Amino acid sequence: MFNIIVLGAPGCGKGTQSANIIHKYGLTHISTGEILREEVELHTAIGSVVKTFIDKGFLVPDDIIMQEILINTSIQDQTKGLLFDGFPRTLFQADYLDDLLMQKKSKISLVLQLEVDKNELYNRILNRSKDSQRSDDKLETIHKRLEVYYEQTFPLIDYYKKQGKLHIVSSMAPVKDVFKKIADIIDYNLNLI
Ligand code: ADP
Repeated sequence: MFNIIVLGAPGCGKGTQSANIIHKYGLTHISTGEILREEVELHTAIGSVVKTFIDKGFLVPDDIIMQEILINTSIQDQTKGLLFDGFPRTLFQADYLDDLLMQKKSKISLVLQLEVDKNELYNRILNRSKDSQRSDDKLETIHKRLEVYYEQTFPLIDYYKKQGKLHIVSSMAPVKDVFKKIADIIDYNLNLI
């Protein structure tokens, strides 16, 4: 299996580029944000708990995330590979994912860190909020989400750098150009296996 993580701050284009990657390489998209929003929309018991965290811009507790990841990866044993978008977001989650993949005799093949200037992140999220109807795309919540990102998720860059898996991609250029750089990195790494 060829497994990829797409890392980056809220608004960096993770969702857009993940969709391009799965389309071109036939990977299975695992977006914890989408999984959680679906729980909220379906009014499940988990959904009512996670909504309180998402709406404040906080991370959802790790035990809920682990449960969702376990369910969503166990039904994907036949796939060419998994693309994790919005997960892991804490060092605890990163360790958990490494262990989980090891149990499946698999591993993370590469990590893409999408980088965007802070001002541009705000512009993109506020722009998206006009039609996304996401309850967390409001100015106060965006501040919190970015704060949480720098405190809890940013350390993952070093974690994956130490594993020799990190690839930093500027996501300031048009979507098509960013994807071209991503595809070059993936193609190069696919040729190594
Ligand atoms: P973005 O990266 O633009 O903030 P996501 O859809 O990835 O969007 O996440 C939206 C929200 O869902 C996060 O702010 C957080 O509350 C919750 N969430 C998503 N993934 C995780 C995760 N791996 N761990 C904890 N909370 C998560």
